[in-house]
Amino acid sequence: MIVEIIPCLNDNYSYVIREEGVNTISIVDPSEFEACDKVINKYKKLDFILNTHHHADHVGANLELKKKYNSKILGSNLDKDRIPGIDIYLKENQKQNIGNLEFEVIFVPGHTKGHIVFFFSKEKIAFTGDTLFSLGCGRVFEGTHEEMFNSLNKIKNLPPDTKIYCGHEYTKSNLDFCLAYDSKNTFLKEKEIYIQEKLNSNQPTIPSTLDQEIKTNIFLRCNVPEIKHALGLKDSSEVQVFSKLRDLKDAF
Ligand code: ZN
Ligand code: FE
Repeated sequence: MIVEIIPCLNDNYSYVIREEGVNTISIVDPSEFEACDKVINKYKKLDFILNTHHHADHVGANLELKKKYNSKILGSNLDKDRIPGIDIYLKENQKQNIGNLEFEVIFVPGHTKGHIVFFFSKEKIAFTGDTLFSLGCGRVFEGTHEEMFNSLNKIKNLPPDTKIYCGHEYTKSNLDFCLAYDSKNTFLKEKEIYIQEKLNSNQPTIPSTLDQEIKTNIFLRCNVPEIKHALGLKDSSEVQVFSKLRDLKDAF
């Protein structure tokens, strides 16, 4: 499985998925028609459009791409009235094929009510949209903090070597936030060097791996005593720590 990264808008990523020698082409979260079509046009076809959630910066090119390539659009059954042009409604834990590839639908409400992650278990690749970012997580718009926390835990339980492809290049500002509250984390300092190198050469910091995120992403580290201490929440539950971090990040 080959994943091509397409930078869109200011800081969005869309992803083209294909397989060597196989004629099925898919895209995750097409933001902008022109940027996406520049890549898809090379293949002269687009079979499937996969949407993690209904926000405009993730579905913006759905209808134009569908019109040009007669693609099928897949999204959560909960977003059947909100994802433009949706054809196939996906349910929690469902398995679905796109060509020879199979993904699992992980239901991750919080950022939106119908947010899903596409997890390709054989390849260990997850498209996490605006739920898990590198070193961060999405804002809680439609769900509760507890839902978002539980959703992140579902992702946390995937195999550690899973590659994480998320919806935005927010890594640098997320890094600054993590450093503010997890300043002694040596993995974070290593990651900082990697991130700077990538950004200095104009390259995406994506993909990350789940293992790296568990070691460095403060939103996946609500159980770590040093972080609880830094927040003055020594005796609080993990979900309370998560809520505090999310509020602090909203104002960061
Ligand atoms: Zn969003
Ligand atoms: Fe977004």
